[in-house]
Amino acid sequence: MKLKKLLFITLSISFILIASIFSNAQINLSQLAGADRYETAGKIADKLNYDTVILVNSDNSLADGLSASGLAGVTNSPILLTQKNSIPKSTEQRINNNVKNTYIIGGTSAISDTVANILKNKNINVTRLEGSDRIQTSLNVAKEISKFKTIDKIALVNGYKEADAMSISPVAVKNNFPVILTDGKISLYNTKNLRTYVVGGSSVMSESIASDSDKIVFAGTDRFDTNKKVFSYFYGSSVNDFYVANGYKLVDALTGSTVAKDNGIIFVDGGSDKSVLKNATSITTLGYLDNSIVSQLQNLDNANTPKIVYWVSGGSVYHSTKDCPSLQRSKNIYSGTIEESKKTRPCKDCF
Ligand SMILES: [Zn+2]
Repeated sequence: MKLKKLLFITLSISFILIASIFSNAQINLSQLAGADRYETAGKIADKLNYDTVILVNSDNSLADGLSASGLAGVTNSPILLTQKNSIPKSTEQRINNNVKNTYIIGGTSAISDTVANILKNKNINVTRLEGSDRIQTSLNVAKEISKFKTIDKIALVNGYKEADAMSISPVAVKNNFPVILTDGKISLYNTKNLRTYVVGGSSVMSESIASDSDKIVFAGTDRFDTNKKVFSYFYGSSVNDFYVANGYKLVDALTGSTVAKDNGIIFVDGGSDKSVLKNATSITTLGYLDNSIVSQLQNLDNANTPKIVYWVSGGSVYHSTKDCPSLQRSKNIYSGTIEESKKTRPCKDCF
């Protein structure tokens, strides 16, 4: 009897030891990335089965792409990137024999008829969804989505603050709901009796917007915080296999929203809080990330270190990235914690 009990205890201890060794095992880190954003989008498309593609021109803004995510979900399409007058090779390769339909998002000033004609000459149906501006375009994309399903949910974003808005993209793909662009003050889409997800804090989205709807607001202190709030609401602790994207190069998060619809996307940067990734089994980066960020992802035990910010001695604010446009001409950029910066306000351009 005694021997049996001892054996049982010994076995239990070994199981616990083995379990703890595995929980410390290195995270399986992979990169879903091409040489440029076109190829990254193409490699993401390669993970999907599709007969329809959505084309977006991301050269000047991601606004048209923002509204594309719900349509990508309902039509099971990848979001591919094109230039205004020509289709890059890595995009054209993905518009292969299986493809019957394409959606062009935006007017001819974004994607010209030259591109539309290249597709028509391949006997592919082309549907252009456009409006007089990005807001009207998003309304027309919503109208297209409503041909496939009854709309009972929408997301409202500020069409001129793309960083906050991008966090909702994988959710819109998964749940096939439209992302409606606004000016931050009023919604031109009738929100009455809808479940409305408002993305962005009160500085970006008016608190009175969509007050006639069943509304949930995701308001973070910056893009990373808003991203975390959206992620924890829709995906939360059920995710072990994570997708991450550069929080300042959001085009990869846009094209990756299709493949990441069941997992969500975590925005990262050198200084961003990565503690949500601590229990990850695998992490896939959408697009290439700086080596310094990749090595942070490989050493997530140190992920709770305080946020690193950047500043210049004469400046009045701290920055989240040394690549902030307002630091472009600064020579001596300091880095450290917010306390060390002795600045009390975050920069409006990069936070
Ligand atoms: Zn800044």
